[in-house]
Amino acid sequence: MSVAHVALPVPLDRTFDYLMPQGMQAAAGCRVQVRFGNRNMVGIVVSVDDHSELARSELKSLREVLDSHSLFSPSLWRLLLWAADYYHHPIGDVLFHALPILLRQGKPAHAAPLWYWHATEQGQAVDINTLRRAPKQQQALAALRQKPVWRHQVNELDLTDGALQALRAKGLCDLRSELPETSDWRDRFTLSGERLRLNTEQAMAVGAIHSELDSFSAWLLEGVTGSGKTEVYLSILENVLSRGRQALVLVPEIGLTPQTIARFRERFNAPVEVLHSGLNDSERLATWLKARSGEAAIVIGTRSALFTPFKNLGVIVIDEEHDSSYKQQEGWRYHARDLAVWRAHSENLPIILGSATPALETLHNVRVGKYRRLALTRRAGNAKPAVQHVLDLKGQPLKAGMAPALIARMRQHLQADNQVILFLNRRGFAPALLCHDCGWIAECPRCDHYYTFHQAQRHLRCHHCDSQRPVPPQCPHCGSTHLEPVGMGTEQLEQHLSALFPDTALSRIDRDTTSRKGALEQQLAEVHRGGARILIGTQMLAKGHHFPDVTLVALLDVDGALFSADFRAAERFAQLYTQVSGRAGRAGKAGEVVLQTHHPEHPLLQTLIYQGYDAFAEQALAERQSVMLPPWSSHVLIRAEDHNNQQAPLFLQQLRNLLLASPRADSQLWVMGPVPALQPRRAGRFRWQLLLQHPSRRHLQLLLRDSLKLINTLPEARRVKWYLDVDPSES
Ligand code: ADP
Ligand code: ZN
Ligand code: ZN
Repeated sequence: MSVAHVALPVPLDRTFDYLMPQGMQAAAGCRVQVRFGNRNMVGIVVSVDDHSELARSELKSLREVLDSHSLFSPSLWRLLLWAADYYHHPIGDVLFHALPILLRQGKPAHAAPLWYWHATEQGQAVDINTLRRAPKQQQALAALRQKPVWRHQVNELDLTDGALQALRAKGLCDLRSELPETSDWRDRFTLSGERLRLNTEQAMAVGAIHSELDSFSAWLLEGVTGSGKTEVYLSILENVLSRGRQALVLVPEIGLTPQTIARFRERFNAPVEVLHSGLNDSERLATWLKARSGEAAIVIGTRSALFTPFKNLGVIVIDEEHDSSYKQQEGWRYHARDLAVWRAHSENLPIILGSATPALETLHNVRVGKYRRLALTRRAGNAKPAVQHVLDLKGQPLKAGMAPALIARMRQHLQADNQVILFLNRRGFAPALLCHDCGWIAECPRCDHYYTFHQAQRHLRCHHCDSQRPVPPQCPHCGSTHLEPVGMGTEQLEQHLSALFPDTALSRIDRDTTSRKGALEQQLAEVHRGGARILIGTQMLAKGHHFPDVTLVALLDVDGALFSADFRAAERFAQLYTQVSGRAGRAGKAGEVVLQTHHPEHPLLQTLIYQGYDAFAEQALAERQSVMLPPWSSHVLIRAEDHNNQQAPLFLQQLRNLLLASPRADSQLWVMGPVPALQPRRAGRFRWQLLLQHPSRRHLQLLLRDSLKLINTLPEARRVKWYLDVDPSES
């Protein structure tokens, strides 16, 4: 009997062996039902052969095979197996992650059949007048004799289920099922929607990519916000779709706006499927199936849409490729951009990475020749670049965290009937609550981190672990009732601004005001309609939205970003700043950007403002090279957490010893730690980390592979919670 090696959704980095009974067939990539411990589980067959380390008598048999063919295309399968290995993550978790929830649960991987009512032979033959006394049934049978009726149309046609069931009981009608009809968009593919005349740079970009549509090529499409990148994507897609091939478009979590989707829908007379957070499980499965069958022409989605199967994929687009949401920050910590490039390579198709502020990693890949760069240097149409100002806050009288010069400028822009965006990356009312009499500050006991004061909800909330508690009426230390908010959050800013500009409509967009489903869309629509004139937002507001009437953008407090312990902070700030300034002055209106700081002379600001993002990136890459930080080297972060602040460092120390004892630990390997994480305590756990650095990614991979086998034998490994983060994006 053959042995199936089955991946299960359990946190163990191995497969499990099951006997395949005679007559059962299960190829790699098929789901099976198995008994695991005392539970029934859905598993995925990874391979089938005759070997097992266990005796046959110890093996259980597969209970059932759920699929006749692999659920994964050969290239997705290769991608997932490779990724499990590269990220050192359990194969079961990786494979299951790539499937829609209903498939993980064992539901059938085909479209649900549609049911319809039809008249039986007896129903066709019977004298309809015999139903005189049941007019509803008479009517229903008359309708069914004309033509069958889909079950979901019963009410539309003014029939009732009751009447149909009664007819069925008499043998006059019955239900039959049929698979949904799939019409082929390829047969009727034409362009709809208006097309703009591409400018020279756009046309060159489109031309370059078109000339290589039939093989792998990776393109960085670098263009300032509003330079017409989306227009370039649309042109490429046009060509890909007209060849009968499909397209995958990844967007950042927050970038999935109705506007973006509408542009794709308007342009093409072909099915555009969108994977967004509002879908339920069956809708997700339906999209997955439509992409796999070829019925969907375009799939747009966030990070995990990368794992959508396609019948005939022709191109992958990653919009805002630098966006941090492409990196999964828990469980399987994969980077969707990196995997997308891998996928494009293995499926031999072009991939386009678009951004106004490319990741340093991506720019590095351009330099070493892995990607090719296409630049859009001008704003499309007649939009002009924004004028930038730095406002030195030193010694200024501040009102609601704003210098008088900023308030004056706001008035000018508002009077000209334009919109203003104020950007403050701190939600809540105030980042701390302080006792004025004794200096006590409310702190999350589980994270050693100040509570943020949320006035509207009357509670304190920890932005690290999300725990909350009511605002204390008195200082727990000295009993004083004189508790004061310290610092400024978006909620407080909104309050001050309504006082300063009583007749101006405000909109605050942060995680607190948009947590309800659909709330963000609703607020953005209101902004577009012109309802709100002042927009207050956290970085949510920085990404990819197109507000034609915004002419002034101000960053209220950037000092925190200038002095961070994370070496990536400068890159993130530069991206944020450039993106945010890109919000000002689109569609022909002149824009201004104001940046408030106590450190106007800071070199990072100087370079960014006077020379732009590319100059900044150039400098940052040189700096990183001088200390061999990524992308000049490769990082793997190993983090361990415990409850007593002892086991985690101990475990990491042992790990360190193991790694350094490996024959692969050469002089270029650098191991930092164990040290406490930048956030040393979260939700009651102490967090420690070990950082590995090596100029060769491959070398680091081999070292890890050898050592991981040994790590799992350390007794400490079971006493702490630990995980690996390959190519981490946060320290
Ligand atoms: P990006 O994706 O780079 O932010 P978009 O493609 O959204 O830029 O373009 C920004 C604006 O400029 C949009 O309103 C778009 O319709 C317009 N636009 C783009 N390309 C052209 C063009 N060639 N001629 C005129 N307007 C254009
Ligand atoms: Zn006190
Ligand atoms: Zn906390």
